[in-house]
Amino acid sequence: MKIELKEDIGFSAAHFVIGHKKCEHLHGHNWRVGVTVEGEEDDRGLVVDFLELGHMMRKICEAYDHRLLLPEKNSGLKHTEDGKITKVSACGREYEFPTEDIVWLPVLNITVEELARVVIDEVAKELSKYPNVRKITVFVEELPGESATEERNIRG
Ligand SMILES: [Zn+2]
Repeated sequence: MKIELKEDIGFSAAHFVIGHKKCEHLHGHNWRVGVTVEGEEDDRGLVVDFLELGHMMRKICEAYDHRLLLPEKNSGLKHTEDGKITKVSACGREYEFPTEDIVWLPVLNITVEELARVVIDEVAKELSKYPNVRKITVFVEELPGESATEERNIRG
């Protein structure tokens, strides 16, 4: 059985894409996130309780909401942190941001593809506690019609 949750989950965040002519300018999106979970139904007839799944997805997204997302693994981005201020240099531009407004992600660039992978890592960690869950799919949409989907087998 496969269940799907795709309404009212997402986050608003700023980013730029290093090495992309247009998207290297700082800008933001209302990213939308969806998840599907496949597995056997438990003795209540549920794969995963939608309430629990929704709570889990919102908690994951909350960490990125109203933040600037920056990639940890891009050599084209340099930064220095001085307490409350982080100075960032990338794409020939210099920025200063409040350190607390930045979320560093273990990716090469903040793209919809990389975000789908980061989010599915979080979802996989949470859902590994459920012995009946076999496969998950995470969908991240940046603009209407522009999305990335990542699948992961949890077991089996
Ligand atoms: Zn963008």
